[in-house]
Amino acid sequence: MSEPVAAAPKPKFKPKSMPQKAMEKLGLLRDIDLALHLPLRYEDETRITPIAAAHEGESVQCEGEAIECQVDSRGRRQLLVRIEDNSGELLLRFIHFYPSHLKSMAVGQRLRVRGEVRHGFFGREMVHPQFKAVGEGSALATALTPVYPSSANLPQTYLRKAVAAGLGRADLRELLPAGMLPPQLPPLLDALLFLHHPPPQARLMTLEDHSHPAWQRLKFEELLAQQLSQLQAQRERALLKAPVLRADSNKPGGGLHEQLLAALPFGLTGAQQRVSEEIAQNLNRPQPMHRLLQGDVGSGKTVVAALAATIAIDAGWQCALMAPTEILAEQHFKKLLGWLAPLGLQVAWLTGSVKGKARQKMLAAAASGEAQLVIGTHAVIEDKVKFARLGLVIIDEQHRFGVAQRLALRKKLTPDVEADAEAEIAAEPGAVAAPNLPQPPGLEPHLLMMSATPIPRTLAMTYFADLDVSTIDELPPGRTPIVTKVFADAKRPNVVEKIRDEVAKGAQVYWVCPLIEESETLDLNNATETHAELSAALDGYGVGLLHGRMSSAEKAAVMAQFTAGELSLLVATTVIEVGVDVPNASLMVIEHAERFGLSQLHQLRGRVGRGAVASVCVLLYTGPLSDTGKARLKAMAETNDGFEIARRDLDIRGPGEFMGARQSGAALLRFADLQEDSALLQVARRLAPQLLDQHPHAARRQVERWLGSKAEFLKA
Ligand code: ADP
Ligand code: MG
Repeated sequence: MSEPVAAAPKPKFKPKSMPQKAMEKLGLLRDIDLALHLPLRYEDETRITPIAAAHEGESVQCEGEAIECQVDSRGRRQLLVRIEDNSGELLLRFIHFYPSHLKSMAVGQRLRVRGEVRHGFFGREMVHPQFKAVGEGSALATALTPVYPSSANLPQTYLRKAVAAGLGRADLRELLPAGMLPPQLPPLLDALLFLHHPPPQARLMTLEDHSHPAWQRLKFEELLAQQLSQLQAQRERALLKAPVLRADSNKPGGGLHEQLLAALPFGLTGAQQRVSEEIAQNLNRPQPMHRLLQGDVGSGKTVVAALAATIAIDAGWQCALMAPTEILAEQHFKKLLGWLAPLGLQVAWLTGSVKGKARQKMLAAAASGEAQLVIGTHAVIEDKVKFARLGLVIIDEQHRFGVAQRLALRKKLTPDVEADAEAEIAAEPGAVAAPNLPQPPGLEPHLLMMSATPIPRTLAMTYFADLDVSTIDELPPGRTPIVTKVFADAKRPNVVEKIRDEVAKGAQVYWVCPLIEESETLDLNNATETHAELSAALDGYGVGLLHGRMSSAEKAAVMAQFTAGELSLLVATTVIEVGVDVPNASLMVIEHAERFGLSQLHQLRGRVGRGAVASVCVLLYTGPLSDTGKARLKAMAETNDGFEIARRDLDIRGPGEFMGARQSGAALLRFADLQEDSALLQVARRLAPQLLDQHPHAARRQVERWLGSKAEFLKA
């Protein structure tokens, strides 16, 4: 093939190398990020061990002359190199090798090798040792060699150089004024130099278990930065203004709040009354509420939300209620419409799938203030939705919203940022013109978040210092606790038989299929197959199928059939995970339960046990189980209590992952551990306000140093 020869256009920017991209992914952007990228462990290249003195299983560095170097083709092809020092001989074995290896380890060459010593058939050997050709008497490392957390495209050698350079350039001046630092902790710069390049005599144990004072200093720094950023956020919020929302009980017939209470088919539990009162008091203040309402699945959070909405509406403001999935949003819409429409309220509905005229009508109703309550998915926070007077925002299953969505919401709720966004939209051709009734200037809506995944106290203290918490710690009366049974998958036929008996008695059943992360298609096949199998087994009964690939209308239709009792069994993927409320359903089977996270299992299980009927949850697993898999299933079988589940989840996974921080690509706390380092945490909590009051500049620098781009994320 002959192609016209043309000079390749010069790239405008130097393309990023693989290692550079890998570093970015690890969040190693600034010099300070590199300086704070601490070793996982160390290799000792500061000494040479005589070959004869190397013990089996020990990782050592030896040095000797190559006396044999050949490819052995009998059996598995491998490169065998034999070296010798004046104490003995050592065989190096390479199963993967390049021709260049033969040159660099040729007979007569002096080699320095590192690896684990084994006692093989031919005496001492190392498999795939690290090696380099050296001259006689070539210098040894003077410090331990750091091994950094890395990724596939980022070689240690590259990373080591980058970290050393970053460490040299970063501004590591002490920010804590003299006298504030706890006396047992070394200066920051000393601690960092030590941790990156410990002297040969350093005690590896204390370095690797992070109990060394240098490590303590770094953990303390991190905790302090985190406490400071929380405190800052809290103080910023205290300066904000919100409308004072008070229930109007002087109206003829009582306020909406009282009317709703009177119309409910049940009385509130003590816990529901208590949290409703906490919320009402909070709404009655001129600062925006920032409150988490936590309560186990089935504890009755929805009605508390509805009561809060009536207060806002009574006071002449609008309320928005958001749920993470369309199924849940629609269910809320129906329930709240049933409660509130009889009181004469205008309730509107908005999700991504509401399109065209209906959408325009809805947007206009929100913008004019005609829609008093708007219910939907995160479509409600999209830029183009404008409210006339938004007084209260309620987010259900708050933890299910992604970090990005939470940030978008925050932006939406922060007046100055919103003004910027508005300007942007106006500039965008074809954008919907902003309606002419803007949100009253300077007033932010109150925010109520709801979650069935409670935050353990230690986490609440550290991550959410900026959050008030109300807890529903009581279930509505008349519930029978769910019995949870764990079976190996081999018991599946017995389970199907049991389902047939139950269905014959009029019970309704959920069958949850596992999520196969890598493949939505596989996921779907699996659910479809199970659906076919169970339809055959339950001949004569309605068996439905619900999965994420269905349109919202299809999903809604299936849910409606199940709710109406037309279906006896519903095969579903995790789309039913949150909030779905069908009180008659009394049996749930979760297939491949070992693939689910603990809080997810608990959420799923919460779909049964919602009525007075005794409910059963069957967890089917396929072995072999990992230790954490075992711990999760055990926890499920032992307790129904969401708080206990959350506590165990924290134990099993650790706080970083617990918070869903993985979505952000970076754990919130890299080094400190809230439980292990609680003493340091106490000191950081005590010092944070002092530093912020007396040395605000240093406090800001401290936060920037540690959190950089993550500071935004922490606010979400
Ligand atoms: P969750 O806290 O999981 O969101 P829901 O708000 O969906 O729980 O409530 C679960 C079920 O309990 C619903 O059917 C709801 O109507 C009902 N419920 C809520 N409060 C009470 C109560 N005080 N007495 C009886 N039933 C209640
Ligand atoms: Mg709910």
